Amino acid sequence: MTKKIVVDFGLCESNGVCMGIIPEVFDLDDEDYLHVLTDEVTPENEEQVREAVRQCPRQAIAIRDE
Ligand code: SF4
Repeated sequence: MTKKIVVDFGLCESNGVCMGIIPEVFDLDDEDYLHVLTDEVTPENEEQVREAVRQCPRQAIAIRDE
């Protein structure tokens, strides 16, 4: 089973908290639009992705089992 990062863009307010935790996964562009650079949760990124889930002030990030 793989785990995927899902962002609810309707909730996201582009404050960059997630990017500050793991910029390899979350990137805000010049127009403050958030991009998920890779949506796969891996053993290497899982701890930081979960931290981003916890710290997102809008609770816009989720991890979905597929
Ligand atoms: S921390 Fe949450 S609200 Fe902030 S940019 Fe990331 S997804 Fe959006």
